[in-house]
Amino acid sequence: MIDRRRRSLLKAGLASTVALASMPGALPGAGAAAPKNRVVAKSPFARIVEVGDGIFAVMSTPLDSAGNFATPQTLCNGGLVVGDERILSIDGYYQPEGAAWVNEQAKRLFGRPVSDVICTHLHLDHTGGLAGFQDGATGPEIYMTASTWAMMVAQYSSGSPVEGTPFLAPPARLVGPTRVIEDESQSYAMDLGGRSVTIMPLSGHTPSDLAILVDDLPITFGGDLAWWGLFPNYVDAVPSKLAPSVETLMSGESRLMVTGHGGLVSTEDMGPYVELIASIDKAALQARERGWSPEKAGEAYKMPPSTADWGFFNPRYPQRAIAAWYREWELATP
Ligand SMILES: [Zn+2]
Repeated sequence: MIDRRRRSLLKAGLASTVALASMPGALPGAGAAAPKNRVVAKSPFARIVEVGDGIFAVMSTPLDSAGNFATPQTLCNGGLVVGDERILSIDGYYQPEGAAWVNEQAKRLFGRPVSDVICTHLHLDHTGGLAGFQDGATGPEIYMTASTWAMMVAQYSSGSPVEGTPFLAPPARLVGPTRVIEDESQSYAMDLGGRSVTIMPLSGHTPSDLAILVDDLPITFGGDLAWWGLFPNYVDAVPSKLAPSVETLMSGESRLMVTGHGGLVSTEDMGPYVELIASIDKAALQARERGWSPEKAGEAYKMPPSTADWGFFNPRYPQRAIAAWYREWELATP
């Protein structure tokens, strides 16, 4: 059962999304902001934590104690930003069941459903659950960049054959945007009634990422530009953009970072994550100088001591990260 789930996750392109040996609850940093944060909802797959007045982090707990994807309903971390008029969900989660649960919690806690969803990037652990927000003919506005939607169609509109039929099954019940962000060269304000957020286009985890900054409180939803306690996924990364984007998110006054995977962390404490990214950049450059393959470089790679206790389930993660650099260099070579 678990194996089948894991295989379908692998097929869905999530091979390197959240693989680790330990439970997220036990991850370094997972409880960093916990003492002052109130848990307002809990399920086997996620808990919703109030991280500021009317600001909630959805913290996913997809793995069982053996490290299997036993409860992947939400899979990514996301959140809710509650305004007087609108309730924003950060990301659409992996399965409709996960998104529907988040929506039910919004109705239970605030008396109204999610009115808007911003998808931080294309990956299915952030977009595959979007259908769960729909209630009959009613559903939220769904925001994503034009290139995120184009990449979703490119990656997920085909699938594996359905036995005994001539049809292919895509890896998720895809739902597209109702509001498209065409221009990624500027930030956007979204008014929720009595409070607003800034939608900041960036890139690095993928060619098109969005971070969401709460305007009246120092809280940022970093999507998968920010990981804590887990080696990041580079499957669609643009490595040359990743470190600058992380630097942008860490700049200015300290803010609480709701990461895409792993624990909550203050931006001023994200040094180990920056070191981890820098160590990959360095390993990739060295590998290129030595003429090594990503495989060989991945085997030789050592994580910086500051991240030695980070989740590192899949031994091929560094190889994938170095391969992302190689991909970028090939693209840059005429
Ligand atoms: Zn993710």
